[in-house]
Amino acid sequence: MIHVDEEYSAEDPEPVFPYRYVKTKVNVSPEGEYDILSEELGRGTFGTVYLCKERATGMGFAAKFVTCERKEDRRNMEREIDIMSGLHHSRIIQLYDAFDDGKTMCIVLELILGGELFDRVIDDEFVLTEKSCTAFMRQIVDGVGYIHSQNIIHLDLKPENILCLSKTGNRIKIIDFGMARRYDPKKKLQVLFGTPEFTAPEVVNFDEIKFFTDMWSLGVICYVLLSGYSPFVGDTDLDTMTNVTLAQWDFKEEAFANISNEAKDFIKNLLIKDGTKRMTAAQALEHPWLKKLASTTDLSGNKAKLKRYVIKKRWIKAVNTIIALRRMGAKIDCNLV
Ligand code: ADP
Repeated sequence: MIHVDEEYSAEDPEPVFPYRYVKTKVNVSPEGEYDILSEELGRGTFGTVYLCKERATGMGFAAKFVTCERKEDRRNMEREIDIMSGLHHSRIIQLYDAFDDGKTMCIVLELILGGELFDRVIDDEFVLTEKSCTAFMRQIVDGVGYIHSQNIIHLDLKPENILCLSKTGNRIKIIDFGMARRYDPKKKLQVLFGTPEFTAPEVVNFDEIKFFTDMWSLGVICYVLLSGYSPFVGDTDLDTMTNVTLAQWDFKEEAFANISNEAKDFIKNLLIKDGTKRMTAAQALEHPWLKKLASTTDLSGNKAKLKRYVIKKRWIKAVNTIIALRRMGAKIDCNLV
């Protein structure tokens, strides 16, 4: 059994490579310097991530490729590179290199091999307790606090974007700055994207977004992690968005009966419709649930629910990928005719 309860901060590891500022190599393809291996590490909304090896050093990295057919795709990647190259923190994925060969852009990232947070939590060997949840949440809040201190809003915080460093340790890193934005107090920032289940009401309502928008997502992540239930998810994205705009939610009795008042208070202070009333990252780190030693009661019933939730998600993702590939196939057929 794996108990994730050792203190993570005592043994903060050195970065695998010194922090660096990255400038995109234009009209250059990564194959000149890296062996891109066929092993796919993951697929996201925009890109596919492969294992790769730098020839000069023999070091392993993750290479994310995004096809930039539209100007907008390139602009988005350039923004992601610009934002990432200024974020140097142990809870944040580090950028190593960037390429633009004219058609495809590639970013070379620190390699993380422990898999997505929820996959790790549902592992048969893993013991889900409030204490293990606080070990993860503390690091996530710490990372988000750093991002905010650099004037960046992540805007796509969700379980898939929290990776574990290893299959057995408790360290995590926040990934995917594809939707992140720099905050400018002189400009009103509104966006219409994100993942409905984890997105704040102000995004769905196309109201002004700020750092507090990320704090809502942390509330949803924490709710799901502790209970295996997702507070706003509906049958369709539209249903989910309606639930989010209403911002009405409660603690599902069967899942929260064994959860402490501190944990519930932590979530209550994040899932508030009025963003200005939500805890900031600094306040969340000072919340008693994260400050004190949390309960070690085994939450195996909730873990079973979380497992069902993760498996359902995997199915939805697989079906969507097949639909997308079929669409691409149809396009190729048309081109061939
Ligand atoms: P997108 O911007 O297209 O959504 P992501 O950056 O979220 O793409 O990456 C997609 C998936 O690839 C992630 O969910 C994760 O499983 C995997 N991945 C991303 N970065 C890394 C990394 N540095 N190391 C290992 N796997 C990664």
